[in-house]
Amino acid sequence: MRKPLIAGNWKMNKTVEQARLLVSEMVPELHTVDVDTVLCPPFTTLMAVSAMLVGTRIGLGAQNLHWEASGAYTGEVSPQMVAELCQYVILGHSERRTYFGETDTTVNKKVKAALGVGLTPIVCVGETLEENEDKQTAAVVSRQVKVGLAELTTEQAMKLVIAYEPVWAIGTGRAATAAGANAVLADVIRPVLAEMFGKPASESIRILYGGSVTAANAAELFAQPDIDGGLVGGASLKSADFIKIVKAALS
Ligand code: PEP
Repeated sequence: MRKPLIAGNWKMNKTVEQARLLVSEMVPELHTVDVDTVLCPPFTTLMAVSAMLVGTRIGLGAQNLHWEASGAYTGEVSPQMVAELCQYVILGHSERRTYFGETDTTVNKKVKAALGVGLTPIVCVGETLEENEDKQTAAVVSRQVKVGLAELTTEQAMKLVIAYEPVWAIGTGRAATAAGANAVLADVIRPVLAEMFGKPASESIRILYGGSVTAANAAELFAQPDIDGGLVGGASLKSADFIKIVKAALS
């Protein structure tokens, strides 16, 4: 049985004061809910949010890290620095691939570095609209998984989480259909994981769906057999919506 996981990707939103307010609205509703819930706010708010999550069941994640342990990498944050405050880290988000030149190879370096310090990577994969229209979804997502998770042991692979986020669904209000998203997980991602790490591992690794998840569509998405929860962007910035989405993963 895979336990549901809901992660909120705040992207580049919220000052420390705003973050404190949002978390104060969420914690009373979520801290006892039996769903692995993770907040991924910006780096500058991690310390404040971490203090508020002590003693709750809510986890904390960063949105990126650099693979090197330390050194002359102005503007970057190391795996160890993230691990001081967080349990999770989002890696390979499509916005990082599109705007900051991340590739499957750099994602792979980050995944290994994150696992090396005990973080749980949430590894994002997903095809663009053009790739989708060209019927390249299976090829693109397979490549992203194969290269992004290359050279991991089965034991390491079983510690991470994958998020299937079709790029055309992120922030567009146009989510994939529940059946369509489930098919990519069941027919593409899990078979690739089985090839790489064996069938038992492929059945135990959690795979989330991300892309315009809302309080209205969450239950249908999470009811799919292969969808183990969600990576939620816009709706994670509104406490009432995020709380409904987390609770939708219970049923
Ligand atoms: C995301 O940022 O990972 C995401 C899925 O965004 P949204 O929910 O806003 O589409």
